[in-house]
Amino acid sequence: MRAVLADLSVPRYLLSAVPATRRLGGMLSLRDDLAVPELPDAPGWMLLRPELAGICGSDVAVARAKSSTVLSAFYSARRQILGHEIVVVDDHGGDRFALDPVLSCVHRGFEPCRSCREGHPYVCERFDQPGVTGCRSPTQGFDAALGGGWGEFVVAHRSQLHPVGSTPSRRAVLAEPASIALHAALRWRRTGDRAVVIGPGTIGLLTVAALRRLHPDLDITVVGPGALRGSTGADRALDSGPHVVQALAEVHGGRVVRPRLTRTPILERGVDLVVDCVGRPGTIDLGLHLLRPNGMLVLVGGAGRQKVDWSLVWNRQLTVQGTVNSGPEPALGGRTTMAEAVQWLADPAYPVDGLVTHTFVLPEWREALDTAAAGPRAGAVKVTLRPNADLPLVAGFTAGGGRAGLA
Ligand SMILES: [Zn+2]
Repeated sequence: MRAVLADLSVPRYLLSAVPATRRLGGMLSLRDDLAVPELPDAPGWMLLRPELAGICGSDVAVARAKSSTVLSAFYSARRQILGHEIVVVDDHGGDRFALDPVLSCVHRGFEPCRSCREGHPYVCERFDQPGVTGCRSPTQGFDAALGGGWGEFVVAHRSQLHPVGSTPSRRAVLAEPASIALHAALRWRRTGDRAVVIGPGTIGLLTVAALRRLHPDLDITVVGPGALRGSTGADRALDSGPHVVQALAEVHGGRVVRPRLTRTPILERGVDLVVDCVGRPGTIDLGLHLLRPNGMLVLVGGAGRQKVDWSLVWNRQLTVQGTVNSGPEPALGGRTTMAEAVQWLADPAYPVDGLVTHTFVLPEWREALDTAAAGPRAGAVKVTLRPNADLPLVAGFTAGGGRAGLA
C-alpha cells in the first residue's frame, strides 16, 4: 500500500546537525511498497480506509525531529505512519467513522491497569507495551504496525470507531482535536465567569468552541494570531504579548500591578481560567500573570523543556493542570469526549466549518507539511490529507453560526 512513512532509526544527534529548515520532512518519504497492516489476533479489529486525515502539531514535530526526548519512552516505534486525526470508511459496508486513536489495555489484550480501571485510559500505564496490537505508542499514527491516517489503510478496533453518518468530511476530521479540546475544557470545574484561551490554532479554536458550548455565558478572550481567531465563539480576540494584561484590565475593570524588574504586569482581579494551547515560555508566562488567585492554568498539547518563572503558582495558589488525549468523562455521564464531539460536529450550529483551510492528496504531503508548519503565515489552521483520492469527500453545512468578525 501507499503511505508516508517516518523512519526514526536515524539517530537524533545526527538530525540535530541538520539545519531546522532542511529537517522538515527529512526522515519522511512516500512509499508505494508497504504491506497492508495485519489484523491483530483478537476479536473486534477491522481494516479501514482513511477518507481524510489531519496534520497535527505533533506530526510536524516528528517531521522536524523536535519531539520530546523524555516522551520517546512511550513512542518507541522506529517506523511510523503518521496521522491520528482520521475519518475512515469501512471498505465492506461503506459506513464512515471518526477514529479514537488512543490504544489502552483493552486494545492491547491486557487486564486493565490502574488508570484504565479508574476510567482514565488516556493515561494508560502500558502505552509502551505492544500486546496483541504490535503497536509501540499510545495512539494510532505513531507506529506503522496498525497503519495510520497518512496511508491507504489503517486497522482499528470497533470500540475506537464513532459513526459520523453524513457529517461533512471537513467537520468529521476534527473529531479527535475537538475531543482533546473538550477534555481540556472539562478539566476546569467552573469557579468564575472569565476565561482566556491562548493560541488560536485548531486546538485553541476548538477549546473556545467547547467552553462556549459548556458555558454559554462565559466571557472568553482568545489570544494570538490568525484570521479565524474570533470564529468559534470568543467574545474578543487580542494579539499576544504583555499588553494583554492592560487590555483585559480595561475590559473587566481589573487593576494592573507592575513588578520592578520584569516586563509583564500582573492582572489583579484577573481571569478564572487560562487554557494555554501553545506551551511556550512566553505564553505560559502570560497565562500566569492573567490568573486571579486560586485560578487554573490548563496546558494542552505541548510538551518539552520550558524556562518559566513559576513564582505566581505559589504566591497566588494557582493550579497547573496538564491534559493529554481524551476518553470517558464523569461530567458527560461516563460518555467519551469523542462521542460528544461527534454529536457536536453533526450540529450545523457548532461553528467550526472554517477550520479545515487546506486539503492535499497524498503525493503532495511535503507541501501539506510545509503549509501546516507555517500556520497563520500560510493562512492555515487545519491542513488535511486525502490518502485515498478515490474516496469522495462529503460536503455540506455552510460556514457561520459563530461570531466571526469580532474584534
Ligand atoms: Zn491501561
